[in-house]
Amino acid sequence: MRLTAAAYRVPTDAPEGDGTLAWDGTTMVLVRAEADGYTGIGWTYGPAAVAPLVSDLLAPEVTGLDPDDVPAAWSAMQRRLRNAGRPGVAGLALSAADCAVWDLKARRHGLPLARLLGLARRQVPVYGSGGFTTYDAERQHRQLSHWVHEQGIPRVKIKIGESWGTEAPRDLARMAAARRTIGDDAELYVDANGGYQRKQAVRVMRAAADLDVRWYEEPVSSDDLAGLGLVRDQVLPDVAAGEYGFDLVYFHRMAPYVDCLQIDVTRCGGITEFLRAAAVAAAAGLEVSAHCAPHQHLAVAAATPNLRHLEWFHDHVRIESMLFDGAAPATGGAVPVPLDRPGNGLALRTAEAQRYRIG
Ligand SMILES: [Mg+2]
Repeated sequence: MRLTAAAYRVPTDAPEGDGTLAWDGTTMVLVRAEADGYTGIGWTYGPAAVAPLVSDLLAPEVTGLDPDDVPAAWSAMQRRLRNAGRPGVAGLALSAADCAVWDLKARRHGLPLARLLGLARRQVPVYGSGGFTTYDAERQHRQLSHWVHEQGIPRVKIKIGESWGTEAPRDLARMAAARRTIGDDAELYVDANGGYQRKQAVRVMRAAADLDVRWYEEPVSSDDLAGLGLVRDQVLPDVAAGEYGFDLVYFHRMAPYVDCLQIDVTRCGGITEFLRAAAVAAAAGLEVSAHCAPHQHLAVAAATPNLRHLEWFHDHVRIESMLFDGAAPATGGAVPVPLDRPGNGLALRTAEAQRYRIG
């Protein structure tokens, strides 16, 4: 089995920012796993430095392995990362490589990836995610209105916690504007990206009591587990975190402090570790929500019994629709899992992607 990687940087369609970070481009690192004339693909969003990590550290570990033995490949790659450090760039590389190895297995056997994993559902519920702090009122209105009123997605999320929590009055005004845009029936979610302090996070949500917010993501830093637990016990919306989880122990530690555990298959260690993290959540009585990279999540989300929903993240939906043939629509708020073609059902648009290649 042969692993290779390439990096692509795609500019955003407008400046994007949340409570604690801003960006004007997004880098995707795509891993190819090849054997017997078949090619599986997997990807992550992270620095271009992920690509050489795949070729230098991971590829030699799987060269002699049977491409059907996904756990053996995962274990060999995971062991190799001990001194490089599993969380961070190395974890992104492992995640993309594991997704590519799973996709290769499905394609070699002529099976849709979701069928290989086993289906818990054929449609994956999604929520529209964007509402960046860098948007003006008109742009936020247009985006949320499109999701709710044109596409029929009944749940949407905006970013708050602007400038590390120093713009709380604007956060509240944007939340109120979002509610006016989406009407009474759609669910309103917010994500502070760790921008608030503990009591501030509680005060902001109490000030928004009449907006019926249902999801409060990273109200405080996801490193502050006790803080997440404190906020969870003081507010009505579900408190969620987990998008920076790079291994199983992370999710095991966080589960007691949140209402819903977020898992990112492009960070946590791929499909192999996503399924185990979902089991950790289930043992704590929790549902999980898949974070970003929507098309990389579809199959594993369909295979996860305790899945709540998948984040239909504006930036990644746009990039995946540009770079892949086979990207799915979210009409009605649930995305059909590709069951009519092998693997994840996607094909890289090579010429289009080449325009964005950086490594
Ligand atoms: Mg988030």
